[in-house]
Amino acid sequence: MLNASPPTSTATIRRCPQCAAVMRIMLVEPDLKDPRKARHVFECKECGLPRTYLITCERSIARPPALSLSLA
Ligand SMILES: [Zn+2]
Repeated sequence: MLNASPPTSTATIRRCPQCAAVMRIMLVEPDLKDPRKARHVFECKECGLPRTYLITCERSIARPPALSLSLA
């Protein structure tokens, strides 16, 4: 069993579990069953493997200060 954690709600690329190439996000759409969740569809550029992740929207949670890039 693959021990792959789901991407975060802001992730736009994934590593393909099949060929290890970069998967790009193709589509983000709201889940019809649960309005708090969104379906993030990734597709591998190399082998075409599609992967759909059901991501919980965390709009109420403050964004972590991980992107405080300094351009100095
Ligand atoms: Zn692949």
